[in-house]
Amino acid sequence: MDGRIRFESRRQKSVFHNPLKGKALDTQELEIRLDPLTGAQSVFNPGLEDKVAAIFPPSDRALIDRLAALSEPMCFLCGDRWQQTTPTYAEDLLPGGRIQVGEAVLFPNLFPVARMHAVIRVGARHCVPLREFEPLRVLEALQAALAFTRQVARNVPGVEYFTVNANYLGPAGASFMHPHFQVTGGDLPFTWLQTLLEKSRRYREEHGSCYWLDLLADERDIGKRHAGECGPLSLVASYSPQGMNEVLGILGERHNFLELDDADLQGVADGLCRVLAGYDSLGFSTFNFSLYSGPLSQQDDSFRCFFRIVSRQNVHENYRADDYFMQKLLGCEVILTLPETLAATLREFR
Ligand SMILES: [Zn+2]
Repeated sequence: MDGRIRFESRRQKSVFHNPLKGKALDTQELEIRLDPLTGAQSVFNPGLEDKVAAIFPPSDRALIDRLAALSEPMCFLCGDRWQQTTPTYAEDLLPGGRIQVGEAVLFPNLFPVARMHAVIRVGARHCVPLREFEPLRVLEALQAALAFTRQVARNVPGVEYFTVNANYLGPAGASFMHPHFQVTGGDLPFTWLQTLLEKSRRYREEHGSCYWLDLLADERDIGKRHAGECGPLSLVASYSPQGMNEVLGILGERHNFLELDDADLQGVADGLCRVLAGYDSLGFSTFNFSLYSGPLSQQDDSFRCFFRIVSRQNVHENYRADDYFMQKLLGCEVILTLPETLAATLREFR
């Protein structure tokens, strides 16, 4: 394979007397992978492959149902309660104060962490298993996010950097159960987006081509991490994931959110739901999602719009966090399911 992208890895051996093997000398082989753009590491120990069920115990469906039953009667997004409970934007920014598209409703976050920070209800249903996320409900939420982005771009000078994000269920950081997205817009890109933008520009300077298009071309050629197409969106399992079961959904033709049309949003909605169905089939019930845009005021040809999605720890009592020193402080993810295996699973959901 003679692509432009370098899929680098290092092999290391770890040797010790293993009581699980009668104290015999045990040699375990590690594969350390480097992300082709950022150099971010991940490590795979084949010995952990059959330990997924122990590290990610199955979701406690009865607990989820109990939590849903407890929270639904007071959920501020259920029914039409949002009309009384959610804040509104000023008329000159957003006429009407909120954006409604089908069952999606966009309104300001009460405690923003970005200059523009909106919350979007994704569908009217309070609790949704991952396999039951509907592309139409996700599409409506994305249409609301895009309408908001356009409105801000028209009315608030200098807000350049947008993302659309999701935390689903408590172990993924959600503070309430009802499916929701969060849109952020600011003058500065968040750290990770800034890194992606800078590294993408450097790649373009060095190679004279766009990293994201090269990545798509190479991953299509290689095939084993390519997980299918959803209209204009391509799904690829990350070579060196920075979260559990990380998948990228890349819009190869789009530099920033202002260029997105309904076919792009449909592709993102279909791609997201396809990955969620795949996660569900692997026994996962929670996720984090971010959709990134290049700066709104330029066609940054080194960058393309894409999303990253990762699964998180399952819902069960006294669950163990899945981010520990490796991820939080050393910036290295531990691979339990190889990206090549994950992609093969996702391809079944075409
Ligand atoms: Zn609700």
